[in-house]
Order: sequence, then C-alpha cells, then structure tokens
Amino acid sequence: MGKNIQLKVKSSFVKNIKVGYPLITEDAILNMKDVKEEGTIIELVDDNQRFLGKGYYGKQNKGRGWVLSQNQHELFDVTFFEKKLKLAIEHRTSLFNNPKTTAFRVFNGEGDGVGGCTIDFYAGYYVISWYSEGVYKFKNDIIQALTKLVDVKGLYEKKRFASQGTYMEDDDFVSGEKAPEPLLVKENDINFAVYLNDGAMVGIFLDQRDVRKTIHDSYSKGKSVLNTFSYTGAFSVAAVLGGATRTTSVDLANRSKSKTIEQFSVNGIDFEAQDIMVEDVFHYFKYAVRKQLKFDLVILDPPSFARSKKHTFSAGKDYPDLLMQAISITEKKGVIVASSNCSTFGMTKFKGFIEKAFKQTGSTYKIREEFSLPEDYKTIDEFKEGNYLKVVFIEKLT
Ligand code: SAH
Repeated sequence: MGKNIQLKVKSSFVKNIKVGYPLITEDAILNMKDVKEEGTIIELVDDNQRFLGKGYYGKQNKGRGWVLSQNQHELFDVTFFEKKLKLAIEHRTSLFNNPKTTAFRVFNGEGDGVGGCTIDFYAGYYVISWYSEGVYKFKNDIIQALTKLVDVKGLYEKKRFASQGTYMEDDDFVSGEKAPEPLLVKENDINFAVYLNDGAMVGIFLDQRDVRKTIHDSYSKGKSVLNTFSYTGAFSVAAVLGGATRTTSVDLANRSKSKTIEQFSVNGIDFEAQDIMVEDVFHYFKYAVRKQLKFDLVILDPPSFARSKKHTFSAGKDYPDLLMQAISITEKKGVIVASSNCSTFGMTKFKGFIEKAFKQTGSTYKIREEFSLPEDYKTIDEFKEGNYLKVVFIEKLT
C-alpha cells in the first residue's frame, strides 16, 4: 500500500463526518480522483486542512471506502483489528455460550467499526465476506487478529467485490479444516444444513433469526402457511415445527426444491406432507386466486431486485403491488409477514406501502409486531441505512 492520501470533504458533508458518519461517498469528496489504488489509507480533511477522519479506499456497490478512526495517528494493523474484533466477540458472548444457536454474525462491518467486512460463525467455522478489493488488502491482519481471539476450526471467505457487490466465483476455503457438506448448524434448536463452499449464499439468512423464532413460537400453530420467495424454505421449517398444518413454499430457482427438502429432512419433517413449488411467485398468486386458495399466514420476503421471464420486481416500486396480491389470498384474521432487505427505503416508507396496499384492496389491518436487524447484526446510529431489514407482522382484520 502506498502513502496516505488526503481527501478533501465538501463543506456540506463536514458535519456529517465529524459526528461519525463512516461511509466515504463519491459526492462528499472534492478530489476523489487523487486516489486510485484499492486499500490506500486516506485522511479526510476539511477546507482548512483540518483532520476529520482516517480510513481506507475501497470501491463498493455503495461508497468509496470507510472511515475507521477519528485518530490521525491510528495505524490499521493487527493490533487495531484485534481491538475491534475483541469488542465484537464480547458483544456476542451470550450467542457463543448458547448451545441452541450455533450460527450467527460475529462482526458486522461498520456496526463493529470496520466497514466493508463481515464475519459469520457456523458451528466452529468462520466465513469472512469482503466487500471491496480495498478491504481485502487487510486480509492477513484481520485473519491474524481473528485467530488470536477465537478457535477457528476452518475459515472460508466470500469475495463480493466484483462490480455491484456480486459474488466472485471462487474456491472459498482459506485455511484450517474443511467443513462437512452439508454442515449442520442450529438456530433456537432448529437444524439447518449449510454449505460454506457453494457460492455466495450458504443456505440460510442469519439476519432473520428472530423472525423465524416468532413465526415458530406465535404464528404457526394450526395454521396454513404460504412462504413466498422461499429459497431453502427456512421460514417453512420454522412454521412446521411450530405446528403449522401445512406449508407451501414457492421459489423460482430450480435448486430451491432439493434445498427445501433437505432443510425439512434434517429436522425430521416429512417433506412429502408439504408443498414445494418451483414457480414464479406472481404466477402462483394468480393460480391461488383462480383456485380460491386462502392461507392463514403469508410470508413475503422478496429480494430487493429480481428479474424473471415475465416480471421485473423492484422492492422500492413494486412492494405495494406484491402486498395487494398477498392480501387477496390471506384469510380474514390471517397474518402477512412482510419483509424487505432493500436499503433504499426505511421502516416509515415500508409502512406507507402497507397502508397503500390495504387501502387499495379495501381491507383493514393491524400491525402486530415489527423487526429490524437482530442484536448480532450490530448497527450504529451514525449509519442508519446499515439497518436495512424491515419485517412487519400484519393482521388482516377485514
Ligand atoms: N425468504 C428466504 C430468502 C429469500 S432470497 C429465506 O428466508 O431464506 C430470495 C429468493 O427469491 C431467491 O431464492 C430467488 O430464487 C427467489 N425469487 C426471486 N424472484 C422470484 C420470483 N419472481 N418468484 C419466485 N421466487 C423468486
């Protein structure tokens, strides 16, 4: 890595950086072109060359790097990362000690003080995700810091620094022992099969842990459940174990079927007693309306953006529409679990979507519960958009 480079912050952004906003954005900097090399240490300064913060350059989907320290003399070395990681690990003590849950997030990027990198724990194995080539330059120091603090049975990495944050196809194994495939992990005593070396996604989204628990504990008993955008069927598993009479899981991806069968099977559930459909959700809605099917619990967890043969779905634009279709096949007194991980809008706007959809269908509703990211996905007040998850349990009244 070359020498430090000074970046001048536009005056309208100075206050933001001063109060701890960690993301370095293109529009906040006057001389972004001065930095070219990923991983370059940068010092942010104001108009009068006064120091504002120190960080690194790393081109991400959003942003051009992260501020890691307010101390001009800070060195980003093993000791620095060890300090950050130690605090992060302490924050997850109860999860490390909880035998019922063996998969969770250990380090959540900027929420734990180092934007651009996350670390997840899966039953003794660790997976580091790198969100830029810049942060990847710190790989050795970060791994050294991690292995000093915890026993790492085996280590995997996900490089997500190709354009748009997409995953780079690669062998993800880094060191230690290779994990079995599948590796069985537990979440509140529910089993999940994960694959640490099988592409960008391992088979479960850990940020929905509290939502799965709530579905299991309070919304499934005796209910018929439709799980849309079901991926490996994790919500369906939680529902069946919570006493659902039947679940229907719908996902477009071919492999979702075998993956869902596997998640049912590792929990001793007879998958043949459940419906698993490989199908476009929007097509399924039409079918359900035609057949007059209705469900007690409808789960909506679409990606922020998706393109299928017939449909382009963009959460920021199309969520009200999706909700309207869900409302039409939800029983009276039934519940819709509306979830979005789209970071371009917050909870207020999301609730606006809910209001709009119910109004248009002429139905009434009551919000029963709300969730954002769980405790292990630590976020900071200075970076609200880091808390991307919004989940609302809505009861359809009439
Ligand atoms: N709810 C899941 C995660 C969903 S990930 C869980 O809790 O694990 C998003 C999923 O939506 C992907 O599996 C993708 O295949 C699926 N998908 C995207 N567009 C779709 C569509 N039009 N119809 C059905 N599934 C779709």
